[in-house]
Amino acid sequence: MRIDVLTLFPEMFQGVLSSSILKRAAEPIAHPADPENVRPPVVSYHVTNLRDYADNKHQKVDQPSFGGGPGMVIQCQPVWDGVQAVQAMDERPATRILLTPQGVPLTQPIVEELAGLPRLLMIAGHYEGIDERVIEKLAPIREISVGDYVLSGGELPAMTLIDAVVRLLPGALGHQGSAHQDSFSPGAKRLLDHPHYTRPRTWEGIEAPEVLLSGNHAKIEAWRKEEARKRTEERRPDLLKDDPLV
Ligand code: SAM
Repeated sequence: MRIDVLTLFPEMFQGVLSSSILKRAAEPIAHPADPENVRPPVVSYHVTNLRDYADNKHQKVDQPSFGGGPGMVIQCQPVWDGVQAVQAMDERPATRILLTPQGVPLTQPIVEELAGLPRLLMIAGHYEGIDERVIEKLAPIREISVGDYVLSGGELPAMTLIDAVVRLLPGALGHQGSAHQDSFSPGAKRLLDHPHYTRPRTWEGIEAPEVLLSGNHAKIEAWRKEEARKRTEERRPDLLKDDPLV
């Protein structure tokens, strides 16, 4: 997969894209027991500064809002030219995504769908947002929100979306299939995950559940399923409305 981002703050992406799973996913990885067996990168990131497409020598991309009021609005021209230029950097068709609090709330099924695409082009807004006319002209474009709250810019939402998508790409996680069991995922029947425990067996006088140390896989599975259901009932009863475990 190729991921492009158009942003006014490319430096914000450096630490996130060069750490942990997102970093590993963009690197070739040799199999520890078989160094000849190299898994190629599963993703490449291309972060572009929207200011590079400003048509003025001060690289200004925003202007006051028509009609008055506080805050600046990102102009159509740099967004339009930036998208055309970034799209032309690769022949794969790009699915355009605008990060906006007014978009469709992001869910795991949307993440799964996006993870199956060859290329994503994310646009991060800032200030009061982007001139509506260019958003309309960029159709088809998916408008996605990371939740019902407002951030200063689309950079953190874009990084959230990148992380959620990339960890689903085959080969991105060390343990293939572990993402499939996470909360909201098909392997968890779209419920919350069960609780997890690790060594030591007793910590501060609190025992880990005995069943998890029993070695009885059927019992462990049944315990986990029940804990996931209880937890979902307590914390997110809305997820049980279709009773996916029946
Ligand atoms: N005036 C806009 C409104 O009320 O809908 C908010 C603009 S916000 C301060 C600036 C930028 O941050 C937006 O253009 C968007 O790219 C991004 N942003 C803020 N909150 C977001 C959210 N919940 N999900 C996705 N993007 C968000």
